[in-house]
Amino acid sequence: MRKPGAQQEVSLSQGVRVMFYMMKPSEASFQTLEEVPDYVEKATPFFISLMVLELIISWIRQGKLRGRLDDALTSLSAGVLSQLPRLFSRSIELTSYIYIWENYRLFNMPWDSPWTWYLTFLGVDFGYYWFHRMAHEVNIMWAGHQTHHSSEDYNLSTALRQSVLQIYTSWIFYCPLALFIPPSVYAVHLQFNLLYQFWIHTEVINSLGPLELILNTPSHHRVHHGRNRYCIDKNYGGTLIIWDRIFGTFEAENEKVIYGLTHPINTFEPFKVQFHHLLYIWTTFWITPGFFNKFSVIFKGPGWGPGKPRLGLSEEIPEVTGKEVAFSSSASPLLKIYAVVQFALMLVFYEETFSNKAALPQVTLFLRICFIILTLTSIGFLMDQRPQATFVETFRCLIFLMLCEFGHLKLLIPSFSLAFEIFFSICVAFWGVRSMKQLASGP
Ligand SMILES: [Zn+2]
Ligand SMILES: [Zn+2]
Repeated sequence: MRKPGAQQEVSLSQGVRVMFYMMKPSEASFQTLEEVPDYVEKATPFFISLMVLELIISWIRQGKLRGRLDDALTSLSAGVLSQLPRLFSRSIELTSYIYIWENYRLFNMPWDSPWTWYLTFLGVDFGYYWFHRMAHEVNIMWAGHQTHHSSEDYNLSTALRQSVLQIYTSWIFYCPLALFIPPSVYAVHLQFNLLYQFWIHTEVINSLGPLELILNTPSHHRVHHGRNRYCIDKNYGGTLIIWDRIFGTFEAENEKVIYGLTHPINTFEPFKVQFHHLLYIWTTFWITPGFFNKFSVIFKGPGWGPGKPRLGLSEEIPEVTGKEVAFSSSASPLLKIYAVVQFALMLVFYEETFSNKAALPQVTLFLRICFIILTLTSIGFLMDQRPQATFVETFRCLIFLMLCEFGHLKLLIPSFSLAFEIFFSICVAFWGVRSMKQLASGP
């Protein structure tokens, strides 16, 4: 039963089908924006279930678990970081769209017509193609999008390695739709388009036969994530691959794909993963002579340099040998498991914060965000084996105890609170002793 004006519920069946864009217009058309479910927020259990399924399938097929904890944790951290601004405000992709719709719309397509629904599906996917292409061809946009490409693995966790910055440029590409498509229809497809792209980040599906002609598939998107020369600047599609076929950016998967950036960043620190390329642009901007050259550093391709074509020279892209070794953390297996446990605990608070954000005092919201950021930073430091890691982790565990003490963090099962306090007190003691030893032994 639909409650008019209130956010609508998502059934289990819908939750699963949304992940594959298998929804009908009749079950995903809403008159107002307020009624549109937050499909992305509700997708976390499906993300986790599909990641577990992927692990099981690869284990059955190959007799061992694929993927690496350090890389997957970094991807999930980026996913969490990229969602945090949504706790405070509507995304810029929606606010800009609503502004144009309210002030400049040319005509009003009916929100409940299947024609509007399918046209919006095409329109959002077309907008995504051009956004994605520009995100690879314009250096300042690449500064955001490169985060998604920085994993040297390719599995479902890679899909969640999202950028904090990307949204500040992507909104521009959807603005034309606001001249005639109601925001409630746009808000549905914006989410479906994003969620569809989750399942294609996998190596467990080889080919989907004739569907490969129309849809963006795991095979097409593997090429997009490759750093082999033949993969660079190819397959930008979101849901459909037809745009790449039309605009000449399509490439089929042939030789073995080596994943990641052409110049790997070799770190698991979440802030470096998000912002390192901005710093690179900043330094390149100042050392490049001439006004027009400086302008080109920002707006031409990431591979551009004075005297080179707009997108740089393909022969400058390091050739892959197939023997590349992905950057790995030197942390012990036990420390990696500790990081996973701490990440999982943080994720429980993250989920709870999102579902109760309207009821939480602003100060609690702010302190929880600080705690989440501190947790992600600390895990990154531990994975990178940074000398500061022991101090940061001691401090973080202390902060956890204080936030619980003052009621800013609440445990879902109150009877576990004593166990949590004991566990975190042991963590404080453990990391505190290690910090002291480190101080005593000097630099
Ligand atoms: Zn991309
Ligand atoms: Zn991707």
